Amino acid sequence: MTVPSRADLATLPDYIIPRQAPGAILLNSNELPMAPLPAVAEALAAAARDSHRYPQWFSEDLVAALAARIGVPESWLAVGCGSVSLCAQLIQAYCRPGDEVLCAWRSFEAYPVLARIAGATPRTVPLDAAHRHDLVAMAAAVTPATRLTFLCNPNNPTGTAFGRQELHAFLDRVPPDVLVVLDEAYHEFAGPDVADGVSVLADRENVAVLRTFSKAYGLAGVRVGYCVAPPAVIREVHRVAVPFVVSRLAQRSASVALRHADEVAARCATVVRERERVFRALRGRGFPVPRSQANFLWLPLGAESGRFAEYCAEQGILVRRFGDEGVRVTVGLPDENDAFLRAAEQFPLGAVGPVRT
Ligand SMILES: *Cc1c(COP(=O)(O)O)cnc(C)c1O
Repeated sequence: MTVPSRADLATLPDYIIPRQAPGAILLNSNELPMAPLPAVAEALAAAARDSHRYPQWFSEDLVAALAARIGVPESWLAVGCGSVSLCAQLIQAYCRPGDEVLCAWRSFEAYPVLARIAGATPRTVPLDAAHRHDLVAMAAAVTPATRLTFLCNPNNPTGTAFGRQELHAFLDRVPPDVLVVLDEAYHEFAGPDVADGVSVLADRENVAVLRTFSKAYGLAGVRVGYCVAPPAVIREVHRVAVPFVVSRLAQRSASVALRHADEVAARCATVVRERERVFRALRGRGFPVPRSQANFLWLPLGAESGRFAEYCAEQGILVRRFGDEGVRVTVGLPDENDAFLRAAEQFPLGAVGPVRT
């Protein structure tokens, strides 16, 4: 007999697992296109030699390095196995079955799935016509059952972002017993007008900020992210952690990457320059692409999305399709972006709606 599992798990949507075809140009997972910096690769090799030992329980060395870099006490930091694991920990720590988790849609696909795994109920609020968070509608959607809301800034998959004033206006409207989780996975690619969640932490006890080494730092394969939040939140995040989930390799490589902030920033600047070049070329070609503050662009192609993604795949370029809503394209190396733009230029663009900024 098959042992019966939780019946509600059958209703979980399946993750769309990104393809990794050998030899293809991979513009489908928002990874950094450059391999780890030499010093980081060395740190990984060195950490591998100590693999017979467990890692530090709380990633103490990495936490100390992060605290110094961000300018917060160590008690304000928790490290996780990618920031996605911290999303799951926050939901587990704050939501009981039946509680509501609020997020925008489209936004990061993991939020509603992680909420359901915890037995919580995801509630979504549509993005506005310009593919941005509708923060007024989101604040209005908070109910007495809402325990936690995710704000993805810049938003995955649309790349749009909100500023500090909009964030404060939202925080003023949301009850103080709702945890507001600012997911800033793409923070390092964003311009100065985009809200910096860490800067609001001093005035707010109900905010947690998530960042990751997977994107700007180019360490998606080693799985390490962090949460900056008041100590009361960090304590709960630690309480629900799986022991030793952040590997020695992850802790060491992230610590070393932090010491190379200038090189990391230079790489991000290269990606941002390329993003603007690809953005202008796509707009010039008539694609209704919103401005992006991240390392990817959103092509709201509606019913053409599948045809476009297939067309790119035929040219050896993998992009990420989201149903009949749109296609997300990661900014790659210049020659990868050129190959993508060639494909986009050849694609017979049907009627795909007005350009919105
Ligand atoms: C990539 C991403 C993350 C981070 O993922 P990890 O690899 O688990 O750190 C978190 N949130 C969003 C919105 C992302 O796009």
